[in-house]
Amino acid sequence: MLKEETIKHYVNKYPLLSKVSDGEEVFWCNPGYSDNHRPETETITLADIQEAEARLQRFAPYLSAAFPETQETNGIIESPLLEIPDFQKIITDKEDLMHPGKWLLKCDSNLPISGSIKARGGIYEVLKHAEELALQHQLITRDENYAKFAEEPFTQLFSQYSIAVGSTGNLGLSIGIMSAKLGFNVTVHMSGDAQEWKKILLRSKGVEVIEYHADYSLAVEEGRKQAELDKRCYFIDDENSTTLFLGYAVAALRLKKQLQEQGIPVDQDHPLFVYLPCGVGGGPGGVGYGLKVLFKENVHCFFAEPVQSPCMLIGMLTGLHEEVSVFDFGLTNDTAADGLAVGRPSGFVGKFIEPYLSGIYTITDGELFRLLRHISDSEKQSLEPSALAGAAGPTRLLKTSEGTGYLKKHHLAEKMEKATHIIWATGGSMVPDEVMSNYYQMGSRS
Ligand SMILES: *Cc1c(COP(=O)(O)O)cnc(C)c1O
Repeated sequence: MLKEETIKHYVNKYPLLSKVSDGEEVFWCNPGYSDNHRPETETITLADIQEAEARLQRFAPYLSAAFPETQETNGIIESPLLEIPDFQKIITDKEDLMHPGKWLLKCDSNLPISGSIKARGGIYEVLKHAEELALQHQLITRDENYAKFAEEPFTQLFSQYSIAVGSTGNLGLSIGIMSAKLGFNVTVHMSGDAQEWKKILLRSKGVEVIEYHADYSLAVEEGRKQAELDKRCYFIDDENSTTLFLGYAVAALRLKKQLQEQGIPVDQDHPLFVYLPCGVGGGPGGVGYGLKVLFKENVHCFFAEPVQSPCMLIGMLTGLHEEVSVFDFGLTNDTAADGLAVGRPSGFVGKFIEPYLSGIYTITDGELFRLLRHISDSEKQSLEPSALAGAAGPTRLLKTSEGTGYLKKHHLAEKMEKATHIIWATGGSMVPDEVMSNYYQMGSRS
């Protein structure tokens, strides 16, 4: 924990922090953001993202055979980009929004295999590790058909190795399901807020689930420690992994294609705004960075966090990154958005995206549930609470003084009629019906 006087110093220096520590909804414009910053000089480049995409292409024949639900997309794990006119109308009427532009829903909730954004980064890192082992043991070359990964010499090899991860639930689902399918021994260290059904599902697939009565950061730490004791154990480090980050960043290449196919321009006259729910930061950081690489100053990325778990906001605002937690500011990290229940951000991601991230806003659980109900009623999309954090984005941008200030500062105000807003819906399709109907009920009560 930080010292009392350190906290006071930061609250004095950054008045927004007193609202944050009161659990109020806030909108923070990142002063480190610059329209002119160019990713070409970074350690993670477009070529790296393209290499990750090529690796996923190599594995497509395997995925298509191992997970029949990916046959439709030829073994590529991708989600639809949907127009949501009815949801847009409900919200623009209710909030009286001028020039709402066009709203789209990026349905990572429907990603095959694990039903959340974690099917991007998590599965990618497992596949990369499997490929490295198979190459080392000369079971395959990069030019062969990777459908072979389902064959016995491969499962036999992987059964001598293990994979471990710490998770609030969804990363565990992705890594657990993928690793078990390839034949690895896999252990998921689950934080206390993880949903029961996720643990049950994983155990049914032969995954070892270790439960903690503590939050995500501790589950990760324990997982890391236990994995260090075993040379054949590969630990997937959600807080520091550039591999995960790259798996997420591939989404940008795919999204660009989808926008082109749907005839939606992104250029100087047609700005793109993207709203990404943020937990530890890897998912939204990777996707957001990929988008900046492709669309540069014409895309504007905002993260969304629960009012009790604004770890990335506190880390970036103070510049303390992983050295500060929401508990330092008297917050509880209690939220129904279990995928976002992270008290301490990834320092790697926070520092990396500093010049690229436009801002962060926070949202109450009550608002998440109201949006969950609206999107279910209007668009028949079943999303988990975490996945709704981005759905408040257009309203916040268009209505708060900080949001409109951002638009003025970057000469966007007069372009908003032609703007596109993408709400990144990060999870939901695997939620059991009875759990979903509880969520829906919460939306009518709140
Ligand atoms: C994990 C998760 C996020 C956020 O991703 P991070 O990499 O933790 O920032 C958002 N939504 C859902 C549903 C998730 O599972």
